[in-house]
Amino acid sequence: MSKKSAAKKKITCSICSRIPEKDSEFWVGGQLRTTPLVKAVSQLEIVGAPYFNDDTLHSHSCLKRCPECGAIYKWEFEYEYLVGGSEDTITLTRLGTEEGNLAVEEVMKTVEIMKQKFYSKAKKKIKNLRTSTDDAIIRDAIDFFHYHQLIYDEDISFAVDALREILIRYSSKSLNREEEEILYWLNSVLVNYIIKRKSEHKDLIRQHINDSSKTLALKILEVLDSSSVKPSSSEEP
Ligand SMILES: [Zn+2]
Repeated sequence: MSKKSAAKKKITCSICSRIPEKDSEFWVGGQLRTTPLVKAVSQLEIVGAPYFNDDTLHSHSCLKRCPECGAIYKWEFEYEYLVGGSEDTITLTRLGTEEGNLAVEEVMKTVEIMKQKFYSKAKKKIKNLRTSTDDAIIRDAIDFFHYHQLIYDEDISFAVDALREILIRYSSKSLNREEEEILYWLNSVLVNYIIKRKSEHKDLIRQHINDSSKTLALKILEVLDSSSVKPSSSEEP
């Protein structure tokens, strides 16, 4: 597939001048059948990440922004399952300034909606952590915060107080297998939280990562309690 010339009018940006107005890649059965997208494309940043991404797990699209000049590109992935081997196409198109701005606005609206959904769900999960004694409900709340922290890099500071209370409860009693698992995942959420948001303690906490769940839980509590600001906020940010 031929690459169209970089631009009709002269582009001065060092990144965009190397990217054609429209570029594409075509794959059959996991094998690239065309020239790959030009290398400079890897310097573009995804708009609205991590809510939007350029994974190739399913057909979807996202916007990419040039970090140097701010130009916006539409990235599209199309997947078609065929018996002889699936066909995948990646297309990258540079948008005009106005079109680009409008598209970014739409993406940011979606991001805002997703964030609001997260906070309103999070409120319910915190309430569950505070009021429920049902292991399944507690596990569900822990999974929720684990997932959002890990996949969407959400700041879960406002939930740490409630998670800490559960940690105290589960680390100070004898546990059945299900409760052991809860403590394991609770530790994981809080270890990730400390590594991400309390990085001054990350080396200390990493040293204890292979300790028994209860020992690790005590270390986590120590770190949380020693942190300059106790997680006071149970309100959303
Ligand atoms: Zn550029």
